[in-house]
Amino acid sequence: MRHRVAAAYSTAAPAQPFNVAIIGSGPAGFYTALRLLERLPVTRVDMFEALPVPFGLSRFGVAPDHPEVKACQDRFTEVAHYPGFNYIGNTEVGRDVALADLKANYHAVILAYGSHKDRLLGIPGENSPGVFSAREFVGWYNGLPEHAGLDVPLDMAEDVTIVGNGNVALDVARILLADTSRLKSTDITEHAYEKLKTSKIKRVRIAARRGILQSAFTTKEVRELINEPNVYMNPLKDEYLDQVRPFLPVLERTRKRLVSVLEKNSKLARPEGVEKTWTLDYLISPIEIKASGNGKTLESTTFEVNNLVQPELSSPARAIGSGQHVTFKNELLFRSIGYKSVPLEGLHTGLGVEFDQARGIVPNTDGRVAPGVYAVGWVKTGPTGVIAHTMGESFEVAENLIDDYKQGIVGTEQNRPGFSGIKDKITSRIVGWGDWEKIDAAEKTKGLSEGKPREKFTSVDEMLNVLE
Ligand code: FAD
Ligand code: NAP
Repeated sequence: MRHRVAAAYSTAAPAQPFNVAIIGSGPAGFYTALRLLERLPVTRVDMFEALPVPFGLSRFGVAPDHPEVKACQDRFTEVAHYPGFNYIGNTEVGRDVALADLKANYHAVILAYGSHKDRLLGIPGENSPGVFSAREFVGWYNGLPEHAGLDVPLDMAEDVTIVGNGNVALDVARILLADTSRLKSTDITEHAYEKLKTSKIKRVRIAARRGILQSAFTTKEVRELINEPNVYMNPLKDEYLDQVRPFLPVLERTRKRLVSVLEKNSKLARPEGVEKTWTLDYLISPIEIKASGNGKTLESTTFEVNNLVQPELSSPARAIGSGQHVTFKNELLFRSIGYKSVPLEGLHTGLGVEFDQARGIVPNTDGRVAPGVYAVGWVKTGPTGVIAHTMGESFEVAENLIDDYKQGIVGTEQNRPGFSGIKDKITSRIVGWGDWEKIDAAEKTKGLSEGKPREKFTSVDEMLNVLE
């Protein structure tokens, strides 16, 4: 295990530790801890995590067939072994310990609790059985305890609509269409794998409200779906491509490449015997979802066709409804229009901080929220950005906190004992890093017999039982 605690901060350090509470153990929490512990060795980090297990969306969001992305967890594990780091798992701030108590006992509190709710479409039929959020579905196949019991009737559906065309939508489409034999040796949960084997899904439509150039997915991810064995991408409608052709000469390289990948693959014929297909649809917004009446699935979704309004290439492109409607048969619909952050219990009463409901973030200036309170990751930026982006942002906020410390803006109070001041107030059974290592080892052992990197426990009780 590498211990890279550099003594980059060399002015005479005060005797007292700089006690920092980080709420959330996803990439933002860990990258912030890493930068603080490496650059300011006087720091003591207590990382609070609601679940017994760490790593946030790198465990519960990143797709099971993307193991290389989860390699960041190796770095987080190194951070957890730094002197000065303490993991307090199975402890939800706001429920098992009050935010106000953290504020009273730490020099700085860092909000790194991500986005764990959904944006909504707000259209009739959205609450019908057969409508699921991508977040729930992703949580289900990745073993998030909250969604372990999700019952998606994959065996009653041939046509599926996904609303939104970000990379999450592509993950969902890929998992729905993949040959399950390819997923068997990943860390997908056993229950999801077994259920996916019964799927009758043949056609997936990914519906976006704007045009090709506004696609939220990236080229690498769409290529992956294009290259999925025994799955065929239906050709893009000519009208979609015709709309972007005039812009091609002035497009920046990544957009040009994306259009060219889509155009090239739109010319390919469907191979003999390939049954499963997917379609990228553009310039349509769902306006009504119709249930089938069987209490499980849907009948159809009606969309309004949009016109794209963009005076210049540099101005934002807006979708304006044309009044024209189109209806597609579908038995299931996944809403993949983004995750959403919510105010942490006690944010207002305990810290006096108003959550920005419209933007879905904790208002901040470069991560600074209020004296001694900082925000990092998706709760700071909103629910977009890959892990590398989250890392960069977290490092920046950590640097700002270090600057504040050096200037005496934080860290000067004498009566901030950190963990010793709150440990008796915590009402949950704390899971420490050593406990997580036992859960981790048990998951790996369980997975070994099935040829998987791990078989995740999908309930908090199962996780805690390992420790009894
Ligand atoms: P999170 O990862 O969500 O971490 C927040 C943590 O806070 C969680 O562990 C949560 O349990 C905890 N928490 C919440 N409330 C509390 C509380 N009250 N008390 C204590 N703890 C709490 N990026 C890539 O680079 N590659 C990918 O392939 C990729 N795939 C993705 C797939 C999906 C489905 C999604 C949604 C995102 C994906 N991303 C990917 C993006 C990446 O996951 C994010 O950039 C990153 O996880 C954001 O980090 P975060 O720490 O802000 O939030
Ligand atoms: P996203 O990239 O922001 O995409 C959201 C999609 O929802 C967009 O197409 C958006 O369209 C649409 N949308 C939003 N509100 C809508 C509404 N009311 N009606 C219709 N459509 C609506 O979000 P995401 O897919 O959840 O991904 C989140 C982040 O995780 C992204 O940064 C993504 O790159 C990252 N991620 C990365 C990977 C990977 O690297 N493999 C995998 C998964 C996720 P508009 O653009 O028109 O608003």
